Amino acid sequence: MNEEINKIMEIPGNTKGAVILADLEYIRRKAGQESLDKIEEALAKLGHPIDFKRIRPFEEYKEAHIVSVYVLLRDMLGWSEEDIEKMGEDSAKISSVVRIFMKFVPFSKIVTAGSRYWSQHFGFGFLEVEGNEVEKSLKVMVKEYNFHPLACACHRGYFKTMAHFLTNGKDIDLKEVKCTHRGDSHHEHLITWK
Ligand SMILES: [Zn+2]
Repeated sequence: MNEEINKIMEIPGNTKGAVILADLEYIRRKAGQESLDKIEEALAKLGHPIDFKRIRPFEEYKEAHIVSVYVLLRDMLGWSEEDIEKMGEDSAKISSVVRIFMKFVPFSKIVTAGSRYWSQHFGFGFLEVEGNEVEKSLKVMVKEYNFHPLACACHRGYFKTMAHFLTNGKDIDLKEVKCTHRGDSHHEHLITWK
């Protein structure tokens, strides 16, 4: 039995299928359908079955399921934290939801749009954004979200891509300066560009 995954699966909170599908699509492209099948099998064996083929963009699923997939990517395919971050970065690029969303958000609206985006996709937690266009920085805070450090890695990639779109393609630097897995009260991502 995988205690780490059992613990994750106890955490409540739902996510829209669209977010999960973007990650699954990335895994399929990177590691093949076979690997995805193996992960699905492993989840069923652990007593947490989910049918990847039946996931629909606007229905809700347990966030714990996709976070468990990150753990299995590490354990079964040897993916590092950096690989998971890259997945977040690329699956946000794959996601038409993210692309369309970012295309119509001017910098001045990112503060409200960011938290709205979160609440449209997650049935729990909060996203707070502080932006400073002159200093070329953004602070993205994720609150009441506490699953696993690999989920933070995925978020870092996701926010990097969103900032990339927001700044019309600038090179983005991102540091997670606060994290609940390091004893902080929330996650805080400091994003800068030149
Ligand atoms: Zn974190």
